[in-house]
Amino acid sequence: GEKILEVKELTKHFDMGKGKMLQAVNEVSFSVHKGETFGLVGESGCGKSTIGRTIMGLYQKTNGNVLFDGVDVHTLTEKGKFSFYRRMQMIFQDPYASLNPRSTVKEIIAEPMEIHNVYTNKHEQLERIYELLKEVGLSRDHVNRYPHEFSGGQRQRIGIARALALNPDFIIADEPISALDVSVQAQVVNLLREIQMQKDLTFLFIAHDLAMVRQFCTRIGVMYLGHMVELTDSDKLYDNPMHPYTQALLSAIPIPDPDIEEKRERIILEGELPSPINPPSGCVFRTRCPMAMDICSETKPAWQEVEQQHYVACHLYTGKHQYDEGKAKVRI
Ligand code: SF4
Ligand code: MG
Repeated sequence: GEKILEVKELTKHFDMGKGKMLQAVNEVSFSVHKGETFGLVGESGCGKSTIGRTIMGLYQKTNGNVLFDGVDVHTLTEKGKFSFYRRMQMIFQDPYASLNPRSTVKEIIAEPMEIHNVYTNKHEQLERIYELLKEVGLSRDHVNRYPHEFSGGQRQRIGIARALALNPDFIIADEPISALDVSVQAQVVNLLREIQMQKDLTFLFIAHDLAMVRQFCTRIGVMYLGHMVELTDSDKLYDNPMHPYTQALLSAIPIPDPDIEEKRERIILEGELPSPINPPSGCVFRTRCPMAMDICSETKPAWQEVEQQHYVACHLYTGKHQYDEGKAKVRI
């Protein structure tokens, strides 16, 4: 497919003062094709939200480029930014925190349309709000109510309606289901999928585990401690995870069939997640990697296409380094 978003060696560090740098995102590259759902997955603190916000221009980049339809979003003028925001919108993890508690549903959804002067006619605007509410499975009777009167799932639907208000091409959904009850998560994912098909939208879908994203995402990038460690098609990632971190994440997802589930071995990651202020040398995963070798502390593994359209950053696949089973900390 045609690339709508290109993230090239994006780096974002935050100056924490006293000479400390938080290395949130380090040389991350991926592109998102028109009409697809690209999943960005990793534990909290891995840098995935920072990537979302840096793409939106909410954070200045430290290095690298973000191109939307070929245009570098960090070089946009105020006017350019204004039209960029019509095309790219964001849905947040906690709809309660992102919706103004003192605004009615009508005011919340109207806000982006008013900022962008979409309607001069209030009646037309209201009709559009009704239409949006219907699209997200809410009723027009909800229009004068306040966020606290709704359930978590309904609030997320209000957030989605607002994100759709300007007819964007691209939506960054930052953990849109993580704060919801499991029973509601699938409903919201199904809604996003329906909307995507109807409106030909492209999604960057940020999630903290791999369980929910398989069906929804066409391709997935796995993040660990500010680095992308693996990227490939959704099915390939599940069938043939290559990076030890991805293998561990997948082994943690329960399989509904108890016979298979019983025989499966879990890969338990030892140790704590290191701080992105003081990341390990070499491979950032090495302090918890069951396959770590001597080279892993010395040299950062290169990001390379190991199989067709399957990118991995790991010394196991460079061909030069033999994994010595005897030395492994944990057997897989
Ligand atoms: Fe593990 Fe080494 Fe691969 Fe890093 S480079 S994931 S430490 S084997
Ligand atoms: Mg986050």
